[in-house]
Amino acid sequence: MRIGHGYDVHRLVAGRKLILGGVEIPHHLGLLGHSDADVVTHALMDALLGAAALGDIGQHFPDTDPAYAGASSLALLGRVMDLLAREGWRVENIDLTILAQRPKLKDYIPQMRQNYARAMGLPVGAISVKATTEEGLGFTGGELGIAAHGVVLLEALPG
Ligand code: MG
Repeated sequence: MRIGHGYDVHRLVAGRKLILGGVEIPHHLGLLGHSDADVVTHALMDALLGAAALGDIGQHFPDTDPAYAGASSLALLGRVMDLLAREGWRVENIDLTILAQRPKLKDYIPQMRQNYARAMGLPVGAISVKATTEEGLGFTGGELGIAAHGVVLLEALPG
């Protein structure tokens, strides 16, 4: 078994979509980034790559590469899953935490779990997504950005 942790932050700006866990969430601000800036999925991918000691998403999907401009992070997650399978790993479970002052994310979490279940070929029961505020403190509290943590457990495939 291998454990992995990932962390990511994106800046909140006007004129961008807010996409978290593959769900487009109505909000007056969105996340700035080269891809769709899905900060939750980025933290998840870094946790998966970290558990397998396969580097990080910046290495696999460089933000200097025009191929990844506006890229769907869920599609990139599918590529990370393919890589893990080739390297002999399966995912046991994932646990994600989103740090955001606003908007309230509770109603969107079931859809995020469904999206990850589909993209990762896992039962929904293996996928935890949680959201918290930081009580108005720091950059998430000041609504300057959204942060996310991901923790995953991998198991080596037999053979
Ligand atoms: Mg990112």
